[in-house]
Amino acid sequence: MSFENLGLHPLILQAVVEAGYTDPTPVQAQAVPELIAGHDVMASAQTGTGKTAAFMLPALHRLATPSAVRGRGPRVLVLTPTRELALQVSEAAAKYGRHLPRARVVSILGGMPYPLQNKLLSQPVDILVATPGRLIDHIQRGRIDFSRLEMLVLDEADRMLDMGFIDDVETIAAATPAGRQTLLFSATLDSAMNGVAARLLRSPRRIQIAAQQARLDNIEQRLHYVDDLSHKNRLLDHLLRDIELKQAIVFTATKRDADTLADALSAQGHEAAALHGDMNQRDRTRTLTRLRRGGLRVLVATDVAARGIDVSGITHVINFDLPKFAEDYVHRIGRTGRAGASGIAVSFASGRDGVHLKKIERFTGQRIHSHVIPGLEPRFKPHAGAGGAARSAPGIARKRSHAWSGDGHREGGRQRSFGDSRPGSGEGGSGGASRSRAPAAGTTRPSFRGR
Ligand code: AMP
Repeated sequence: MSFENLGLHPLILQAVVEAGYTDPTPVQAQAVPELIAGHDVMASAQTGTGKTAAFMLPALHRLATPSAVRGRGPRVLVLTPTRELALQVSEAAAKYGRHLPRARVVSILGGMPYPLQNKLLSQPVDILVATPGRLIDHIQRGRIDFSRLEMLVLDEADRMLDMGFIDDVETIAAATPAGRQTLLFSATLDSAMNGVAARLLRSPRRIQIAAQQARLDNIEQRLHYVDDLSHKNRLLDHLLRDIELKQAIVFTATKRDADTLADALSAQGHEAAALHGDMNQRDRTRTLTRLRRGGLRVLVATDVAARGIDVSGITHVINFDLPKFAEDYVHRIGRTGRAGASGIAVSFASGRDGVHLKKIERFTGQRIHSHVIPGLEPRFKPHAGAGGAARSAPGIARKRSHAWSGDGHREGGRQRSFGDSRPGSGEGGSGGASRSRAPAAGTTRPSFRGR
């Protein structure tokens, strides 16, 4: 399947070629024709699979034909759980829609000044990308005209559900024309998602993209057992000194830990900074821009803040603290191995994390093999079986990190998940033609499963 066979408008194809994409990813190959045919779609696909283009290309295809309804309101509305994801979607829309005469993108995010948003909304809009809370405010103030709306996209719908936004999403959907086309993208399509789909979608085509396993094939997962905090710190310092580590995201359990660890790493001479939900939007944007431009080697982040980060230079993800939920593990490690590159995901686990590790392994369908770095071995002997526990027999010498694989296992050559082409790393900097370029702080609802 090639892009030419998908039936997209030539001006969109031109932008796709310029983005360096040669072949559609599986979710694109399956979703684009269904969407062009006008069907509602619910797809299980997460970041890294090319899902943004899977919905944005058909959305732009619609925009290539003038609206049958007069007005200035959006024809496409994309709802996302986080500000960062909203900005990435806006950038993607601007990138793929750059040759179209009518593809004006506006992002409406929490934390951004109202007067600026009012101004953006008073001008014609084609694609509106928004986080639900702030959008509801504008709808209630009568600032948005949905009479032209043709397509509603729920991006990372599972996360919007987790974050308590789903009622807002349903309220927003109810304010849009009933004849719209609706798309739901989610990492998993479970019963909760089916419920949302039953309320908002009409006879949707279901698209299931590869098993978790296939999606993680380009990421080598490693486990290091740790005795205590000081052991973790020494291991982390060692890992960060690996010259093959270009950029890394280190995940901590709390915002405060992210700050403390980023400060400690900076004091040790690492180019490190924190990213979490308590920072103001200016600082978050500045930190992300530094990361995208390569000016930052180590980002210490919490789950919510790092969600959706798409930076091709990230070679390593390090779980300084294990995530609470298995699905967050997948989201975290998906920050590396972007756009077909390979990546390394390292998790630190204590002797008490056995059950938790098993849950993660069950969720991904893959074992996480333990590694030991000579001189930094754990003092305790982990039980065999839990999370691919370390065996004491030496295995294969590992050139990359001078570590050995506890059980001598290594996945074969890492695969490319799709196309070799990678988007230009400067993509985030210029931000495309989006009028959302002065985005600011976001949704004010911190509730993420009580965290
Ligand atoms: P997403 O899953 O939407 O977050 O996209 C992940 C990355 O894949 C982004 O950096 C996209 O620019 C890139 N990408 C999307 N579609 C393709 C494609 N067909 N070929 C190569 N890279 C792609």
